[in-house]
Amino acid sequence: MRAGLAFTGAGISTECGIPDFRSPGGLWTRNRPIDFDEFVASRTARNEAWRRRFAMEQAFGGAQPGRGHKALADMVADGRLLGVVTQNIDGLHQASGVPDSKLVELHGNSTYATCLDCGTRYELPWVRTRFDAAGGAAPDCPDCDGPIKTATISFGQAMPVDEMARARKLSLACDVFLAIGSSLVVYPAAGFPIEAKRAGAELVIINREATELDDFADLVIHADIGDVLEGISTAH
Ligand code: NAD
Ligand code: ZN
Repeated sequence: MRAGLAFTGAGISTECGIPDFRSPGGLWTRNRPIDFDEFVASRTARNEAWRRRFAMEQAFGGAQPGRGHKALADMVADGRLLGVVTQNIDGLHQASGVPDSKLVELHGNSTYATCLDCGTRYELPWVRTRFDAAGGAAPDCPDCDGPIKTATISFGQAMPVDEMARARKLSLACDVFLAIGSSLVVYPAAGFPIEAKRAGAELVIINREATELDDFADLVIHADIGDVLEGISTAH
């Protein structure tokens, strides 16, 4: 059996009610992202970042895995996929049953927080209680006074070393690289389909709009992700 690898972006979670970045009306067009240096340097930026995070929780906190997540979890479970490398930060691949050993979160996870200085983990309700009690001011770490940030990788923040290494290893090991729901413009993440293909994998892109790498791919499917993956996962 040929080994597949799924590489996912925001498009797999839109049917779960979480908007992507670059579709019309997506998050990108509404809020300029706060980059890492700004977050660290400015208390106002930290307050705004946390205000946005809690607004997201209100809107999307109850999101459940969609057809695409479930299909990929099935394909990981039966061995058709080596794993899932995701750019998403919504935790929906875990929620659909993909084990941590088969999942690489390149951009981290927004469902919990860490202190940027000492690494202590904080849960969102802990941050929320203090944020609300302080009238919308982001709390600092009680252990070391460091800034507390969702466990995501912001623009300008170093990529996580272990996750990058795991993603590279999987990309070089797979026979078929499935790029799903990503506009493939965010680097270094978008480098993985290129590395996989150069190492001999077939590159298949599933996305309803054109992506940066359509011309480079072996097969491009411009269609709805849930429809396509549901069909692939049930075909034996
Ligand atoms: P993107 O917004 O740049 O691209 C998403 C692509 O998915 C678009 O090209 C769109 O046409 C396509 N798409 C959307 N819904 C689809 C559907 N139902 N069927 C087929 N195609 C569909 O997303 P990206 O490339 O992942 O880059 C955005 C960055 O922002 C990522 O780094 C990610 O970390 C982050 N992000 C994450 C989430 C999330 O965790 N759910 C949401 C928004 C942004
Ligand atoms: Zn700390």
